[in-house]
Amino acid sequence: MSDNATPDLVFTGGTVVSHDGRRRNDVAIRDGRIIAVGEDLAVEGLPTVDATGLLVLPGLVDVHVHLREPGMTEKEDFASGTRAAAAGGVTTVVDMPNTSPPVATAERYRQKLDLVKEKAYVDFGLYGMLDHDNADEIAGMAELGAMGFKLFMGQTTGDNRCPNDAAIFRGLEAAAAAGLVVGVHAENDHLLRMFGDRLRSSGRTDPRAHLEGRPAFVEVEAVTRIITMATEAKAKLHIHHLSTADGLQRVRDLRAEGHRVSVEVLVGHLLLDDTAYDTYGNLIKLNPPIRPAADVNALWAGLGLGDIDVIATDHAPHTAAEQAEQDVWKAYGGFIGVETMLPLLLTAAAQGRLTVEDIVRLCSYTPARKWSMATKGQVAPGFDADLVLVDPATQAVVDGTSMHSKHNVTPYEGWALTGAVVATYLRGGLIYEKGAIIGNPAGRQVRPARVPLATAGA
Ligand SMILES: [Zn+2]
Repeated sequence: MSDNATPDLVFTGGTVVSHDGRRRNDVAIRDGRIIAVGEDLAVEGLPTVDATGLLVLPGLVDVHVHLREPGMTEKEDFASGTRAAAAGGVTTVVDMPNTSPPVATAERYRQKLDLVKEKAYVDFGLYGMLDHDNADEIAGMAELGAMGFKLFMGQTTGDNRCPNDAAIFRGLEAAAAAGLVVGVHAENDHLLRMFGDRLRSSGRTDPRAHLEGRPAFVEVEAVTRIITMATEAKAKLHIHHLSTADGLQRVRDLRAEGHRVSVEVLVGHLLLDDTAYDTYGNLIKLNPPIRPAADVNALWAGLGLGDIDVIATDHAPHTAAEQAEQDVWKAYGGFIGVETMLPLLLTAAAQGRLTVEDIVRLCSYTPARKWSMATKGQVAPGFDADLVLVDPATQAVVDGTSMHSKHNVTPYEGWALTGAVVATYLRGGLIYEKGAIIGNPAGRQVRPARVPLATAGA
């Protein structure tokens, strides 16, 4: 090896899992980048990490988290949320803009970046918001490195005013001009409010009323409308947290007509169904809601057919007191998830519901490509040495007391796990090992590579 190809660290003896296969290989890194993947890469006298018996995965890329800065740090902050990510094998998070204040202008984007950039334990991207009147702010946020834009067609935490169709279309055009992804919460806001009012005035306050107030067609309508508009605007479109069988079928139908869109499902929508309202109450209030088993089964079938591109967490922390709220209309939507995603999916893999290769494709490779993260999502030369060492055989249970968010209230508490994160490396540096966060915040902002629209996207 020539001098500048000498690794400063080599992972030996592990099985490298990629989006399309696995192979016993060493991984050599230098200055935070992978320089070689192959056999017998260890160099006499230089540091090695023995990964024998372990799986080596590219760090997960979670494109849907709410770390609550600025303005809601009683729920979570960038330090606590990214520590949880590190412990969960997630080395890149992309944070949502529905904070207080929301990130809907270039000035706010700059303020948020300044506020969080020294606190992150993993690499991070920041979304801007596409709101009811900010199309002329899109280019400025893009200039500052916005990973993409979040469009709330239906109301959620923060109670931001949903844009009308004209504002949506102007935002889509501006995002298309910037070459950036628009990610959508696809529910029809007017219908949500109408059904919610009806249930409220009938006296319902129970957790299941949330599900009844958000019927599947509300998602189908929004999916249809946004895909139709995004195609016309030539925008790169992503549907966050698709939750229904009918919504997924509509995506299939529109794809068959030539529309291009990527689709995300949440861990919660895969692992919980509506019987869970009896057990967990408002803790599992989620927008869109936890659905009946028929929808859950349709999402799993969609994963098997390759119709779903991304799995994400929608890590949405609230305080423990807020999570105990009994009145469904006062309860917040969402719960934590960034630390449990990989162990829960490894458990599903151990049960034969998907493969570890699928996990890599859905949680790392495809999100990195869709959002044009040029050096993320693969264990290959030239990519960042974001590596997760996984023991697929470890038996454990989900234990909130050992987790790293500010409020570790999770519906998965006590669930049996097969598979665990042993260690997490960010650009070659150890950031988590066997229960402990290692070192100081070393996360950096990830900016999308400028790529031509025609070659981008899943
Ligand atoms: Zn969300």
